[in-house]
Amino acid sequence: MIAERRATPTVWVGSVPVGSDHPVVVQSMTNTDTADVDATVRQVAELAEAGSEVVRITVNNQQAAEAVPTIVSRLADEGVYTPIVGDFHYNGHILLDAYPETAAALAKYRINPGNVGTGERHDENFESIVRIAIKHDKPVRIGVNWGSLDQGLLTHMMDINAEKDRPDDAHEVMMQAMIESAMQSVELAEKVGLAHDKIVLSVKISRAPDLWDAYRRLAKRTDLPFHLGLTEAGMGTKGAVASAAGLVPLLSEGIGDTIRVSLTPAPGASRTKEVEIAQEILASVGIRRFAPAVTACPGCGRTTSTLFQEMAQDIDAFMRRQMPVWRNTYPGVENLNVAVMGCVVNGPGESKHADIGISLPGTGETPRAPVYQDGKLLTTLQGDGESIARQFNELLEDYVQSRYGSNA
Ligand code: SF4
Repeated sequence: MIAERRATPTVWVGSVPVGSDHPVVVQSMTNTDTADVDATVRQVAELAEAGSEVVRITVNNQQAAEAVPTIVSRLADEGVYTPIVGDFHYNGHILLDAYPETAAALAKYRINPGNVGTGERHDENFESIVRIAIKHDKPVRIGVNWGSLDQGLLTHMMDINAEKDRPDDAHEVMMQAMIESAMQSVELAEKVGLAHDKIVLSVKISRAPDLWDAYRRLAKRTDLPFHLGLTEAGMGTKGAVASAAGLVPLLSEGIGDTIRVSLTPAPGASRTKEVEIAQEILASVGIRRFAPAVTACPGCGRTTSTLFQEMAQDIDAFMRRQMPVWRNTYPGVENLNVAVMGCVVNGPGESKHADIGISLPGTGETPRAPVYQDGKLLTTLQGDGESIARQFNELLEDYVQSRYGSNA
């Protein structure tokens, strides 16, 4: 069972509410050179079309900072109003001060407390960014990352630990330091004057059990909304599975208000995969649906061909492609359930549970495919594989129109 979400304030990131009982927000991050306006606009638009509700871009130098207002206005010209978050490390205080239009154009600033300078400069630089956020009425994400943990704080905590009668091990001190880094940064930001409902927190680690541990500890210390993500999740299947393993236990405990899947894309592959996986993670635990679901059986020795697998794949891809339009034309269509089953053993049963489902003929079965709609037999399709697939797609489109269309 999914636990009720933690009670948190609502933090507005541009037009997107994060926290409280608002839907868990999916975000993503570009991997273009931000100074390359064309490439960055193109990728943000792609990510937004795939369903990313917030997009983060790195703002790492003067050229990138200079490009931000143009990127935001070019996106608006294309009708893309997805909030853009600036990711700052080392020089955020300098860039945000030197480029006020950039500070104004961004919807949120991500600050890594481990990368804002050392010694006295640490607090000064951090405070500078917070003051700029207050001036422009922007929220910040205080994003701690174990790979760039505040070394001054970690050393200090290691020293204190060494003096204990029974010192904790180094891993435990690292976990404590991550939480302390986040909480001390919140305290400092609020001391400077940043409102409580202008802060989102994250403590990212690359191992799932550590991630659960870190966020559970943090949840005991604060009511602020959390951004969840397994850092450096990796590539392909490994990245997707590791992210799901990291996020699902926390989400099921009601922890997490916005998520990102940090997937390393294959060379040349689309960045949108991370959005798709983040959506699938939320959908698989029943927290949020983004597109209709296709249930397909795994197939076994009873199936005569790969037709049902191809059909399931095609239907899934077709519905995903339609979603940018369907979202507006057919409100609620994301809750549609479609079943594509390989034979009559479980086919009719599963199809009856779906809104619309087809059961394809298995080995030795007559070449007929019963279609169930709203639990009742609608028709039985006949013909070769291609013809059955075409007829079913037509029925599916009719069903979507009649159930979710304006005349429904
Ligand atoms: S529905 Fe039929 S084809 Fe699919 S797994 Fe079950 S028995 Fe096999």
